[in-house]
Amino acid sequence: MSTSNAVAYGTTQTLRAAIAGEVFVPGDPGYDQARQAWNLAVDERPAVVVEAETAADVACAVRFARAQGMRIAPQGTGHGAPPLEPVDGAMLLRTSRMRGVRIDPAARTARAEAGAQWQDVTVPAGEHGLAALAGSSPDVGVTGYTLGGGLGWLARRYGLAANSVTAAELVTADGRSVRADADHEPDLFWAVRGGGGSVGVVTALEMRLYPVGELYAGVLFFPIQRSAEVLHAWQAWTGMVPDEVTSIGRIMRFPPLPEVPEPLRGRAFALIEAACLGDERAGAELIGPLRHLGPELDTFAMVPAPALAKLHMDPPQPIPAQGDGALLADFPAAAIDALLAVAGPGADTPLASVEVRHLGGALARPDPDGGAQPSIGASHLVFAAGLTPTPEAVAAVRQHAQAVKDTLAAWHASYDYYNSEETPADASAVLPPASHRRLQQIKAGYDPGQVIISAHPVWPARGRTPARGRT
Ligand SMILES: Cc1cc2nc3c(=O)[nH]c(=O)nc-3n(C[C@H](O)[C@H](O)[C@H](O)COP(=O)(O)OP(=O)(O)OC[C@H]3O[C@@H](n4cnc5c(N)ncnc54)[C@H](O)[C@@H]3O)c2cc1C
Repeated sequence: MSTSNAVAYGTTQTLRAAIAGEVFVPGDPGYDQARQAWNLAVDERPAVVVEAETAADVACAVRFARAQGMRIAPQGTGHGAPPLEPVDGAMLLRTSRMRGVRIDPAARTARAEAGAQWQDVTVPAGEHGLAALAGSSPDVGVTGYTLGGGLGWLARRYGLAANSVTAAELVTADGRSVRADADHEPDLFWAVRGGGGSVGVVTALEMRLYPVGELYAGVLFFPIQRSAEVLHAWQAWTGMVPDEVTSIGRIMRFPPLPEVPEPLRGRAFALIEAACLGDERAGAELIGPLRHLGPELDTFAMVPAPALAKLHMDPPQPIPAQGDGALLADFPAAAIDALLAVAGPGADTPLASVEVRHLGGALARPDPDGGAQPSIGASHLVFAAGLTPTPEAVAAVRQHAQAVKDTLAAWHASYDYYNSEETPADASAVLPPASHRRLQQIKAGYDPGQVIISAHPVWPARGRTPARGRT
């Protein structure tokens, strides 16, 4: 145990007595389980772990940390743990027990407590023919994902999830419980919608849902040797599709593990994944030109919106992994060829997946009422990832993910996407410059002492403190 982590059991007794949740310090049975992030490669060693049950627990924990002079790292699932700075000496404030969700079918809204995972929202929303702007994975946290923007299968039609947030409940760094919405705490409301979790600990989010019961979605699998033909055809096709289509071109190397279905196990493919809003006839017409290429496997069909959680084949349980991404201003034919040189059929790479997401559509149109990411001014997002069961694998995956970014440097946009930047980087690297400057001003008002540790740190602006708690 590091000396900075030496918080006496007795010191935490008052907190244990005051909250409904649990408190763990190093040496407690349960400490190791409580500190474990979803990403098993991340070794977080906080001084205290608090597993909050309620918003009141969160407020109590924040006040306790302040009294002890501790910093606070809010965390739900730990999917986004890789870029986090070390939490030694800090409180890891876990919201994973706070998974309550309420759907209001008439108003087409959902309220999700801070620890809710996407499947907690998409499944009950689906029962009312409604869809949330969830991402590719059912167990990613609603809160972390949405605070960082939130790029999902309906993104080209409905934009980033952050811009569909209608209210946030937070505990600020000084322990106050506040509600931020269009009429209250406008700075906080703006900051949580895409600016990350640096201005307070979120205890619940409210968001709009959309009338999508079923849609046409699936994957086309081609042998990896056809990568060039497939990615060039996909790229040309994306230039013609409406905003109702969100798609990904991808190279995937499946590990030879028993849990991988037999036709894919140990094999490598070029894939096209897509979700098309509309009925089967319209969807089949849209996918027609790609289907015409003759895939080895074709899973396109009408599916209920919650089934989108399976489309990207994300790991169904915690794994050790490392990835990295970059926004691209453009993805022309030369960029495809460059990518294939480092990740295509001839490459010797530990990367299990290299994907290119087609952006544009609603993502490209600034939302006048939006938050810190009112739009994404890039045409594509590239993301490369691999399994990292050993330290050597971490180094190898990092090196190859960096090679993917380097080879596409000529097309790199001016900043990266918040949620896909898995290497430590401050918020200036993952937000538009004007948003980053405003976020620094807001941070100066709400957390000038940098108490809250967030995935991508924001350094408070010096010299000017905006009015706090304006309504
Ligand atoms: C398998 C996988 C699939 C993914 N798919 C997508 C995708 O399709 N689209 C996309 O946009 N992203 C995707 N991501 C990235 C994901 O959105 C980020 O990793 C996100 O940070 C995860 O949120 P979380 O709450 O699950 O993780 P956590 O690690 O729990 O949280 C990440 C960060 O969010 C902040 N945070 C979390 N909870 C709170 C809180 N209550 N208050 C204040 N701050 C908080 C903190 O800064 C924290 O460090 C994916 C990641 C993985 C691993």
